Amino acid sequence: MSNNLNLILVGGGHTHALVLKHWMAHPIDNVQITLISPHSHSPYSGMLPGLLAGYYTFSQTHIDLQQLAHEANIEFIQQPVTAIDHLRQCIYLADGQQHQYDIASINVGSTPNPEIPGSQQHATPVKPIAEFLQHWQRLQTEIRQQPNQRIAIIGGGAGSVEVALAMAHALKPWGTQLSLITRAGDILSEYPRKARRLSKERLALHGIEVLTNMNVDEIHADGLSCSGQKYSYEHIFLCTQAAAANWFRQSGLATDQRGFITVNNYLQTTTAGNLFAAGDCAHFQSEPLPKAGVYAVREADILFHNLQAACQGTHALKPYQPQRDFLSLLAMGDHYAIGCKFGLTVSGHWVWRWKDQIDRHFMARFNAG
Ligand SMILES: Cc1cc2nc3c(=O)[nH]c(=O)nc-3n(C[C@H](O)[C@H](O)[C@H](O)COP(=O)(O)OP(=O)(O)OC[C@H]3O[C@@H](n4cnc5c(N)ncnc54)[C@H](O)[C@@H]3O)c2cc1C
Repeated sequence: MSNNLNLILVGGGHTHALVLKHWMAHPIDNVQITLISPHSHSPYSGMLPGLLAGYYTFSQTHIDLQQLAHEANIEFIQQPVTAIDHLRQCIYLADGQQHQYDIASINVGSTPNPEIPGSQQHATPVKPIAEFLQHWQRLQTEIRQQPNQRIAIIGGGAGSVEVALAMAHALKPWGTQLSLITRAGDILSEYPRKARRLSKERLALHGIEVLTNMNVDEIHADGLSCSGQKYSYEHIFLCTQAAAANWFRQSGLATDQRGFITVNNYLQTTTAGNLFAAGDCAHFQSEPLPKAGVYAVREADILFHNLQAACQGTHALKPYQPQRDFLSLLAMGDHYAIGCKFGLTVSGHWVWRWKDQIDRHFMARFNAG
């Protein structure tokens, strides 16, 4: 019987992909890693708008988890995790498999909140991105055959603005009408005023209608309703606030009010010392963080150190210290971008080139082999 410790990585998000890069450079003795993910490829969300707009290919924007696992010489299981029993140290998969772990880490991201009645039947969430991209392919084919369709994107944050502009770019020749619908009084409410103004100019330039203060009551097969009024759309996309997977709570893990897994400064769940969580799915207890890929990326160094420490028991855990602010680069269509940090806003084609360089540099860590 093997004396190896079983370290299970649940989800192949940004953090775990980078943890595996660290592992390849510094493998831990007597530790066997298993990566579990329902998808063989994990998207780099910063490049998603560029993929929709047709600027990048699938492989330029996705980390091949199967290939990464092969290079790291670890096991890869392509299945969704459905539950964790932290007392029995057991992970349950959708196909009925059960896997014992000594140490585990969760990095499964988030999905748009499906709370609007009818959204599960009649709208397409932008996450999981794999399913969203399949729908996007079918939609493009359909619109080429039957132009002049109406599309609604529900959400007013950075992701929804970027998705709307990317779709407008890709669908320009087919007379598609796009609406961005938010219940907030303005789009990009957490961004500086200049960024909001510039974004609205770009949306107007691309003919995208922005409907604010619209609390959608229900989504139907042929549109949506709001305050008793019906609006007709052929296609509706959800890019609403991030929501957590139900199985975190159902597994008895400690969570915040929204259901995200509570972690301490060491990215250790407050439920069990041998269970870690990072990225969107985690609620950083001492300071709630925005659900942004930049945090998932920055957490990777600390998570790797702490997983190593937990496996070897020889050195102390390190605390994760979140950055005060982060550079937010928003793709605005037509190779144009807006950048914000510390309340300052810049924009232009040069900002797009800057963003493009940063994004390609990130992906080169995985695609260069
Ligand atoms: C359109 C759009 C654009 C965005 N642009 C940016 C940006 O420019 N910059 C930025 O910082 N943030 C951006 N974001 C936010 C960003 O997507 C998230 O914050 C980021 O993806 C979180 O990374 P993560 O590592 O937590 O998880 P993810 O990258 O979402 O990965 C989660 C992984 O877990 C897997 N998984 C899911 N469920 C299970 C399960 N049950 N069992 C096992 N595995 C599972 C998935 O297949 C996936 O591989 C954007 C979001 C959207 C929607």
